[in-house]
Amino acid sequence: MSDLVVRGGTIVGAGGSAHGDVAIEDGRIADIGPELAGAPHEIDARGLFVLPGMIDVHVHFNEPGRTHWEGAATGSRALAAGGGTLFFDMPLNSTPCCVSARAVNRKREALERASVTDFGLWGGLVPGAVGEMADMAERGVVGFKAFMCDSGLPEFPRADDQTLRDGMAQAARLHLPVAVHAESHEITEPLSVALRDKVRLKADLTVRDFLESRPVIAETEAIGRALELARETGASLHIVHVSTGRGVSLAAEARARGVDVSIETCPHYLWFTEADVERLGTIAKCAPPLRAAEHADALWNALMAGDVDIVASDHSPTEPAMKAGDFVSAWGGVAGVQSTVPVLLDRGYQDRHLPIERIADLIAASPARRFRIARKGTIARGNDADLVLIDAGSSFTLAEEHLQQRHKTSPYVGATFRGVVRATLRRGEAIFMDGHITARTCGRFVRPDGL
Ligand SMILES: [Zn+2]
Repeated sequence: MSDLVVRGGTIVGAGGSAHGDVAIEDGRIADIGPELAGAPHEIDARGLFVLPGMIDVHVHFNEPGRTHWEGAATGSRALAAGGGTLFFDMPLNSTPCCVSARAVNRKREALERASVTDFGLWGGLVPGAVGEMADMAERGVVGFKAFMCDSGLPEFPRADDQTLRDGMAQAARLHLPVAVHAESHEITEPLSVALRDKVRLKADLTVRDFLESRPVIAETEAIGRALELARETGASLHIVHVSTGRGVSLAAEARARGVDVSIETCPHYLWFTEADVERLGTIAKCAPPLRAAEHADALWNALMAGDVDIVASDHSPTEPAMKAGDFVSAWGGVAGVQSTVPVLLDRGYQDRHLPIERIADLIAASPARRFRIARKGTIARGNDADLVLIDAGSSFTLAEEHLQQRHKTSPYVGATFRGVVRATLRRGEAIFMDGHITARTCGRFVRPDGL
């Protein structure tokens, strides 16, 4: 007999959705079908969509070392409240940065104690550390992250082209992807220097000045270069937080010519525009920056056309004091781990009739496929019972008290979303239910299958 039955929901699968029950035994999906036998525990899912839990491939929970910014305990709770059951933490902004096997071990131990969701880890690709990649792969990282421009942290320097080329060749040998923050250093650095000079000279610094210091061409040039390096080295390339339709097109064209590339975008590029940066100020500062409305539209079109593979939060908060000040000194990063699924439901499912099955693919099935995570990402017999129950017929307005993250600062506060996450189950355990975190146990470390 199963331990738990999720009863009467619309179960969302790749091939379509069907009304029915999900039976769970020992954290795995034991059966799927209509009117399954009763169990000691039941969750009423009538009127709700049942989706695979979100796999957020891009977060910065900053543990160990910068838990005063966020932390896996609070970050993972926010993820759970947003419908997520697994995250991949970026190698920065923890201390030390995750660029060696030792650092991977330390972070794994810290997160095993703190996270309520399952988690995986990105290793870092920085100059002088290509030799560490094999050991990090051995420890189970999902891939290697590199910056093509200044990362904002001196201890995580950008990868010059030769480091990127060597790192991609090594990653290809290790059968792991390289993720790039694609903005050109050659273009952004002089513009950033000019911006800093303006602040130093006490000249008026406008939102425009900041936005123009990170132009679209900085992204598209870097994407083009990363694609060429991936083509040459045979590496799997993952382009994080693509902010423009042009960026997506470049990658999609290269993919059609045989480059192994996956494309990620983030909810803030789909929800906000430059006008919101004017309205919200530095709380909406991120890199690449939020773009003009035409770029957000183009991104949605690319997403609707199936050219975007994954939507991830790039949740990157800090202390409120560090988010204040002018556009040069304020930390760049948007806190949105709890809002990714609501953004896709509201502007995607409701406004653009983005099929719910496609949302399940973008947030769960596609990440599991790309990063070879076994038994996750889809609702299938034998898989982990990682589920999110969604009420697409209700709406809510996000308030600070809803936020589970460490600091209650998010540009989404005040936004109304059509679509509510009712419950999140991680391996059969309800970790979020009706507005409350209900997790009793910690999450597990997850590594790529076959490595
Ligand atoms: Zn990031």
